[in-house]
Amino acid sequence: MDQYDVIVVGAGPAGGQCARALSLMGRSVLLLERSKVIGEPNFSSGGTVKETIKDFDLPRSVVQSDWSSISVSSKDDMAEIDYGKVMGHVLDYKLLKQFLAKEAKGNGTELLVGTTATGIKREGKTSVVRFTGGEARAKVVIDASGSASAIAAKTRLIENRGEFAMGFEYLLRTPELKKRNTLQFYLGESMAPRGYLWVFPAFEGTAKVGTCWLGKSGAK
Ligand SMILES: Cc1cc2nc3c(=O)[nH]c(=O)nc-3n(C[C@H](O)[C@H](O)[C@H](O)COP(=O)(O)OP(=O)(O)OC[C@H]3O[C@@H](n4cnc5c(N)ncnc54)[C@H](O)[C@@H]3O)c2cc1C
Repeated sequence: MDQYDVIVVGAGPAGGQCARALSLMGRSVLLLERSKVIGEPNFSSGGTVKETIKDFDLPRSVVQSDWSSISVSSKDDMAEIDYGKVMGHVLDYKLLKQFLAKEAKGNGTELLVGTTATGIKREGKTSVVRFTGGEARAKVVIDASGSASAIAAKTRLIENRGEFAMGFEYLLRTPELKKRNTLQFYLGESMAPRGYLWVFPAFEGTAKVGTCWLGKSGAK
């Protein structure tokens, strides 16, 4: 059975960056991703502050647009803060994940796609992670599977999963969108009960339009 310093479950932004950084430090890393294609599912709007690019040393190619103002609207009111300079970006979420995984691989991470982690057990000071197609050992296992908590949920680490926020969005062609530098948020019971709506400029002529709301863990 293969042995690593670290097994990372999930090649989302957290897992991809984690594997990238650890393998750069010389650790042997196995990165498991259940999707067959890195970058899928492509579900996040990718709105972030400008520090993200610098702090994580990301290339401009993962940026879809820049934002310099934020507006918050309700049924009857609207407030806007215009910073007059770029304060952040809307990232291409799929390209971001692909970039991180590619860098991790380049640093020596072993990447298995289309591979779902299914369980974990302790053997002395090492952990054995089971996944579709095999198992591997590591001193440290990092569950970066997002809300799935695929591995942590099989341990006593998570007893109460608390509240979940759920959301969905569309990438729309919006040639008429005037506020190309504004992150727009919409609040209020009539528009988004227990949540909010957003319109984020994406690449030229498009916008990410989505909504999210709070729901209880296990709610249908
Ligand atoms: C519609 C929407 C819009 C959002 N917009 C923004 C935004 O604008 N800005 C922002 O900062 N955040 C946003 N978020 C939140 C953001 O997407 C998450 O915080 C972020 O994706 C969390 O990253 P992660 O790497 O922890 O988990 P995820 O992105 O969930 O990645 C987990 C990875 O683990 C993999 N995986 C799961 N189970 C297993 C398993 N058993 N074995 C192997 N692999 C597994 C999954 O396939 C996935 O690739 C948004 C979320 C949604 C739903």
